[in-house]
Amino acid sequence: MTHPLVEGVATDLWIDGQWCPASDGGRFDVDDPATEQVIASVASATVEDCILAVDAASKALKAWAGLTPRARGEILRRAYELMVQEGEKLAQIVTLENGKSLADARGEIAYAAEFFRWNAEEAVRISGQLSHAPSSGARILVNHKPIGVALLVTPWNFPAAMATRKIAPALAAGCTVVIKPASATPLTLQALIPILTAAGVPAGVVNLVPSRASGKVVSAMLMDDRVRVISFTGSTEVGRVLLRQAAEKIVRPAMELGGNAPFIVFEDADIEAAVDGAMIAKMRNMGEACTAANRFYVHAAVSDAFSRAMASRMAALKMGNGLEDGVAVGPLVNADTRDKVRDLVNDAVARGAKILTGGECPNGPGFFYPPTVLTHVDPESDLVREEIFGPVAAIQTFTSEDEMVALANASEYGLASYIYTQDLTRGLRVAERLEAGMVGLNRGLVSDPAAPFGGVKQSGLGREGGHEGVLEFLETQYVSVSW
Ligand code: NAP
Repeated sequence: MTHPLVEGVATDLWIDGQWCPASDGGRFDVDDPATEQVIASVASATVEDCILAVDAASKALKAWAGLTPRARGEILRRAYELMVQEGEKLAQIVTLENGKSLADARGEIAYAAEFFRWNAEEAVRISGQLSHAPSSGARILVNHKPIGVALLVTPWNFPAAMATRKIAPALAAGCTVVIKPASATPLTLQALIPILTAAGVPAGVVNLVPSRASGKVVSAMLMDDRVRVISFTGSTEVGRVLLRQAAEKIVRPAMELGGNAPFIVFEDADIEAAVDGAMIAKMRNMGEACTAANRFYVHAAVSDAFSRAMASRMAALKMGNGLEDGVAVGPLVNADTRDKVRDLVNDAVARGAKILTGGECPNGPGFFYPPTVLTHVDPESDLVREEIFGPVAAIQTFTSEDEMVALANASEYGLASYIYTQDLTRGLRVAERLEAGMVGLNRGLVSDPAAPFGGVKQSGLGREGGHEGVLEFLETQYVSVSW
């Protein structure tokens, strides 16, 4: 049974410009997290299928890398335009398989499409360098070349944007790709393939291999000598496994992993602006974002005002099927994610946290968890250490800057951080002291295709977007020249 919104979307593997079933006929079901009903069945690639995808990517590499940067850029630009044109249909598919509200899904599609536009512009600005060797008198000529076949593995929380953030720079650099999407949300990319084809992406340049056997197929592709880079977005736990496997063949890793963002509100902050920012940093994607504000540190002088305002904004959000008008909070992606959020809140409450709003897990169907605000959170609570990945704001207070910076940095993660203060000197000073790859200063959103996205510590290696994103897919070669 196929849901009407995904009727017409191909559900086979896309290898070498052809839709084909899995070689063993295997398929898996994709569910709507709002209804728990099956919406489609998708082919599940085997190891053999994935190696065929690597064959196709490898075969297409020379011609794709040999196109002029302008030609590659124009194909990416057309992909941007077509994706925007098809935006509403893609947004509905994202909502259907992921659960997020249509407003969030539309935002994701616009953000995802921007990676094609930005990288269309980057494709023609990949530069080299020429300099004089200080002692020998030779010239040092530095050139960047496409690294080769790229293996891309993406998560379910942004099924479109986490993929285009990799596909677009890889193609701009002249690489060809094999993508393994998350099993919970493969349909968005299935629907993107015809857009890439219509934009002019040749056969074999982009190959799509959804698979239920993710560990097995990704590891087989990593052992193939032709794969030269793995770009992974997902949990730190799986990132660690892939880093070990990548070591075997010295495959270059680009890792976008988990986060545990602190959201810091100083006593001089504009509280209304801080609450606006907190709502974005916490509730974009119902909290299912690696950049989601996970730990709120609010100065004791303003914590009551901030917590009350936050609770009233959270309580006003309409929860329901993300496809319905006016719904701001859809279901979480699956039962495990919902149960984890429920358990984290129960643990915090058992340690003394007070619930200002939410906290009651409704009965199904659908994996719903209500927007929840907790105060008096014990720093030893599990949700202070772990990613909540749900719509729960856990508020602690602080009085001294040094104490707060130490608490904010006491995490194995270092992806995003947020600071609200009207004193920009203090804001910049604290930003520098935070162990985070990205800081929002008086802003609740850091994601921008034109900025380098990524983390420090166990949040990852490398950057996506900005000028840095394309570098992950380039090899540096230096030629020592005499003339
Ligand atoms: P996940 O469980 O790590 O899965 C991510 C991808 O890896 C999926 O395609 C998954 O396939 C695949 N996978 C799972 N086990 C694997 C294995 N042993 N070998 C190879 N591939 C494997 O993460 P998730 O639950 O989808 O996503 C949530 C996590 O992603 C959070 O921790 C979040 O913070 C992080 N994230 C980080 C960023 C960032 O930019 N830093 C952005 C978004 C999300 P299956 O679905 O088939 O299992």
